[in-house]
Amino acid sequence: MKRLLRRTVLIAGTLVLMQAGSVMLVRPGRVSEQASAIPSPSSSPTMMPVTPSASPRPAPEARKTHAAASIGGPAQPSATCGRTGTRVVRFRIEVDRGLPTTPSRFTKDVLSILCDRRSWIAGGRVRFRYDPKASLLIGLRTKENKDRICYPFTGYGSCQKPGQVVINADRWFGGSAFLPLTVSDYRRLVINHEVGHALGQRHRGCSAEGAPAPAMMQQSLGLTTDGRTCRANPWPLSYELRTVR
Ligand SMILES: [Zn+2]
Repeated sequence: MKRLLRRTVLIAGTLVLMQAGSVMLVRPGRVSEQASAIPSPSSSPTMMPVTPSASPRPAPEARKTHAAASIGGPAQPSATCGRTGTRVVRFRIEVDRGLPTTPSRFTKDVLSILCDRRSWIAGGRVRFRYDPKASLLIGLRTKENKDRICYPFTGYGSCQKPGQVVINADRWFGGSAFLPLTVSDYRRLVINHEVGHALGQRHRGCSAEGAPAPAMMQQSLGLTTDGRTCRANPWPLSYELRTVR
């Protein structure tokens, strides 16, 4: 009975912490048992089979480690892209040390995707701006740091948490082995998908056989849902754009 009670308390504690987006504060030994059964509404695993680690690393170290090991982006804000839309989404960037790019290169890459006329600005409801003081952080992370920050969603893909988009550098540089997309198109997909979450978008399935997949579909997990198979596609579709507020 005591054991049952303790388990219940731990489950409740886990839920509260996960919903608050504070997964890193949870002691891994306690959360691991429930993690795979209780998906967090605020942490969105993408492009990956969810395989919570059997012996997770100590998550609390992550805050120090990634803060100390990453570099912020350029000091100057960018221009705002998108011609219409009252909602201006500002983002800053961080790049983990040791990765084969620079913060300014990564900032340019992200801007080139979000400011493409096929991205979320196409709906005319949102605009984007790089700003080193922005609260939304887009981070290019080593696999190890990505797993710490995204815990319990460790593994293949990237993730989004409140205030933070976490891009797995392995996939950024190597693309997805599961999708017929170039590395450039994979980068477009992962940025559109994870920033889509930051805009409030949720996962979608394939709407019709042979149709382009929604950007918010977890495409690396498979292009088929409910018996319909879509084509890989990195850009948000018109019906996705219409739901941006
Ligand atoms: Zn997702």
